[in-house]
Amino acid sequence: MRILVHIDDAATWRDALAQRLPHAEVITSEQADGQPQQADYLAVWKPPAELLESQTRLKGIVNLGAGVDALLNNPGLPRDVPIVKLRDAGMAPLMSDYVRFGVVYFQRDFDRYFAQQTHAVWHESPLVDKADWPLGVLGLGAIGAHVAQALAEDGFPVHGWSRSPKALDGVTCHHGDAGLDELLGTVRTLITLLPDTASTRGIVNARTLALMADGASLINPGRGTLIDEGALLAALGPGDKEGRLRGALLDAFSEEPLPRDNPLWSHPRVRITPHMAAPTPVRDAADQVAALITALDNGGEVETIDPGAGY
Ligand code: NDP
Repeated sequence: MRILVHIDDAATWRDALAQRLPHAEVITSEQADGQPQQADYLAVWKPPAELLESQTRLKGIVNLGAGVDALLNNPGLPRDVPIVKLRDAGMAPLMSDYVRFGVVYFQRDFDRYFAQQTHAVWHESPLVDKADWPLGVLGLGAIGAHVAQALAEDGFPVHGWSRSPKALDGVTCHHGDAGLDELLGTVRTLITLLPDTASTRGIVNARTLALMADGASLINPGRGTLIDEGALLAALGPGDKEGRLRGALLDAFSEEPLPRDNPLWSHPRVRITPHMAAPTPVRDAADQVAALITALDNGGEVETIDPGAGY
């Protein structure tokens, strides 16, 4: 069995997979460069179209991340090869840390204290209890469900939203269009952990933002395409005064790196991080990739991507 790896730091992944699959030949796309190397399995993150097009005997593609949007939009993607993606694989606890930071940043007024600091203002605001700070998590997948439950365990009332009905301990679960509107009217911080698909693009827009309570905040580590940036900036209002939306912590953008002239960079109530919320930890992920490839190769049960649904 030959596995071809394409990702930044491919040599680390190659070594980790070779260790776990001693009977497989694991090579990087750089090693294969120049000589047509047909593989049985690809383990890839954002591969070039030519790499996908050059493969003629593939039995499966493993996406080395949780979001499959870039792979599904790749013009070289073969139509009839099963695609699997990482599910949690150590990313969920990292994402929970990122979201916890964002939630506490707004709930404990750190955003306002840091704004006060620029004017040397010493003013302590009354504490709002976690129990009075309802949160909404859009997307209850491998990562979203973990985040929702971690926040519930911290003592926040948590509402979650998914496409299909769900039951999660400690989380009030909603689904469908009516479920979304109900959730938006309830929460003080909205966390978007949806994939980028035809039905989620622009889901945070003028209509949905208007349904949120005055002073609500947004944390988006999901995908940039979930947010209508114009509507977000309008809801945030001008820099000098809090608008309907109090602030936003953003990790994912429609265009990455975020262009230097994007107005989000300079908005005083927007905090920007460079898509670092939950990098894929190689050790945990390599265990999962090896298990997925073994299961695919043995004809075992594997949850594959539904290209129609887009995730
Ligand atoms: P999953 O694919 O496991 O879950 C996706 C969730 O979104 C599911 O609960 C699904 O519903 C829900 N969903 C999809 N479409 C809709 C819709 N139209 N309406 C309502 N709910 C919908 O994803 P993960 O939890 O693993 O990851 C979530 C996203 O986080 C990834 O797609 C990626 O974009 C992002 N991410 C970002 C990282 C970063 O560093 N910034 C790192 C890792 C991931 P259902 O359960 O009913 O299918």
